[in-house]
Amino acid sequence: MGIFEDVIINAKSFVGTVGKKAGEVVDSSKLKLAAADLRSEINRKYQILGRLSFEEMSIGKDFSKPKKELFDQIGELKTNLDSLNDMIASAAQKIKCDSCGCYNVKGAIFCNNCGEKLAYPEDASEHMSPDDVIDFTEDNFDDDDLL
Ligand SMILES: [Zn+2]
Repeated sequence: MGIFEDVIINAKSFVGTVGKKAGEVVDSSKLKLAAADLRSEINRKYQILGRLSFEEMSIGKDFSKPKKELFDQIGELKTNLDSLNDMIASAAQKIKCDSCGCYNVKGAIFCNNCGEKLAYPEDASEHMSPDDVIDFTEDNFDDDDLL
């Protein structure tokens, strides 16, 4: 389990360091990488679980104990993945105040806590701003897309 715990710990410390370094926005791309690692680890365990089930049927050996262990591990990894996804979501939607360090909703101009003007990074291309949201009620949405 060491590796997976490391992934989570790294992801968490990453939020801390990058949040400070960049001044305001946590880089969600690194968190996404950590989430991808977790997902592939979960898939790897699914694979072993399937392999054990196959061996069980083909040679008639009882693998219920290692299978239960894998079941528990997958459950734990999924919980970790959920919290990582939460972090990704909040990293994508929040902006950190340079002055007091508290998080504000993206798009806000002044800090909700101290009233300081919020600094946005130059390169915000990968972060969605309210202006980037596609309005499906307008011409952007064509009925033909449904076919
Ligand atoms: Zn502030």
